[in-house]
Amino acid sequence: MSYIALYREWRPKTFSSIVGQEHITQILKNQIKQQRIAHAYLFCGTRGTGKTSTAKVMAKAVNCLHPIDGEPCGECEICRGIDNGNMIDVIEIDAASNNGVDNIRELRDDVKYLPSKCKYKVYIIDEVHMLSTAAFNALLKTLEEPPAHIIFILATTEYQKVPATILSRCQRFDFKRISVPDIVSRLNTIAKQENVSIDDKTLNLIARSADGALRDALSVFDQCISIGNGSVTYEDVASMLGITTDEYLIKLADAVAENDASKCIILIDELINNGKDVYQFIKDFTMHFRDLLVCRIGGAAVDVLNISQETFDRIREQTKKFSTESIMRNINILSAAEADAKWVSQPRIILEMAVLKMCKKELDADLDSLLVRVAKLENIINSKGVNTVVNTVTQDNSDTVKDVAVKKEKPVKENKKPDVKKNKTVDNKQDNDQHFKDILKKWPDVINAINKEGHKILYSNIVQGKPAGLSDGALILEFKFGFVKKQVENSENKKIVEGYISSICGFDVRLHCKLVDEVAADKQQGDDIVKKAETIFGKDIIEVEE
Ligand SMILES: [Zn+2]
Repeated sequence: MSYIALYREWRPKTFSSIVGQEHITQILKNQIKQQRIAHAYLFCGTRGTGKTSTAKVMAKAVNCLHPIDGEPCGECEICRGIDNGNMIDVIEIDAASNNGVDNIRELRDDVKYLPSKCKYKVYIIDEVHMLSTAAFNALLKTLEEPPAHIIFILATTEYQKVPATILSRCQRFDFKRISVPDIVSRLNTIAKQENVSIDDKTLNLIARSADGALRDALSVFDQCISIGNGSVTYEDVASMLGITTDEYLIKLADAVAENDASKCIILIDELINNGKDVYQFIKDFTMHFRDLLVCRIGGAAVDVLNISQETFDRIREQTKKFSTESIMRNINILSAAEADAKWVSQPRIILEMAVLKMCKKELDADLDSLLVRVAKLENIINSKGVNTVVNTVTQDNSDTVKDVAVKKEKPVKENKKPDVKKNKTVDNKQDNDQHFKDILKKWPDVINAINKEGHKILYSNIVQGKPAGLSDGALILEFKFGFVKKQVENSENKKIVEGYISSICGFDVRLHCKLVDEVAADKQQGDDIVKKAETIFGKDIIEVEE
């Protein structure tokens, strides 16, 4: 007996054996039961999802002599004829190789003749989007007025390339990618029938590699059986697919988590010595981090992971070694590397650079890596019981004043902290006069408080200052000597004085220290401006605001 490829041998012969497309097969079965068959169908979907198989089952079901509940019987002359490919009334056309207008004209002539044995002539046109424009136009004429004995089933992987005029005349069905569990269960059935021993983890690997296409999964499985001699191991499949085993991915990700760049480079070397495809590996490694991310999010999201329980447990363990930010950062790095690796002759270097970047977060200054570093810092700070940076920043300024006041100068007696409340800042010019008067009145109290509470040095300096004015919330304090002014001006002392003014006077001001000469010069300048204005506008209309 000659060898038949698995996917041919196991091609579904009924609607119920079509995997993962129940949303379509149920409708088709109902149409057949109710005799409401359309004259043109369009089956869309990625390769290997069962479009042609469904079309063939449909061809049998509409013509079967003894249909059972919408399904073909599989035993009558018609069913067997179609299964064997000997039925002339079911015509398969591959549009990829018969895309010219002549082929379609031929078809149009052929359409006129009644079927020879079947009730319906069924035309299955695969890859219909490959037809030329002229061919589409010719086909359209037939679709506009199809004879009653004709059914068209058009199949395509790229429906957007099919003209709208054609689309509008077809009943459209979208074939889904087949899920990993569905593929696994199908492979399992076949493995049992073929007496092949294979475990779930390995079946999972095949199913994942097929990316939703059952036909691809079957052809991989077929090859594995031919090399495996009755049993198929995980390593067989992994090496055949050039896929990196989970074991290896976890090892490399561990090295990344430990920021161990040299270990990473050694592992990559091992990978290349084993003849793995670097480009494929980058894709696998990206998927691994995506799995980590999904695992980290947890909850129902985990259901979308198409991995075995064993791998899942190990991945979940590994998520503990990464923060969400760093997983996302690594996915970004790997995605960029994947794009770059396509265009270079030495993709190995791209991979090594990417992995180094993943290990050395300090190498790049983009937002993602900064976030990772900030998160790390926050963790350290939190774990050591120190207030986080954020807390300190949001504290009331006056608290800082208190801290400084206590720390900076040794208390002579029991320190009583000034009762500092958050006050209104003086920013209204109208209030300046009143506030300045208040300050002058309470200035001795401010100085006494500074003295009483132990700021002896500051006290000795501040007594030499004289409030000279208040403008835009800035209290001008006049000093005779530069070195005294400098002492008071230092930012810590300034804050202390501002703190006492605030608590004693009941409003906030900024301290602005000046030398006597500067104050006089300012005044002179102000007077000059007023005089100039008077000469221009006349004395009467000048009103000066302090
Ligand atoms: Zn039949």
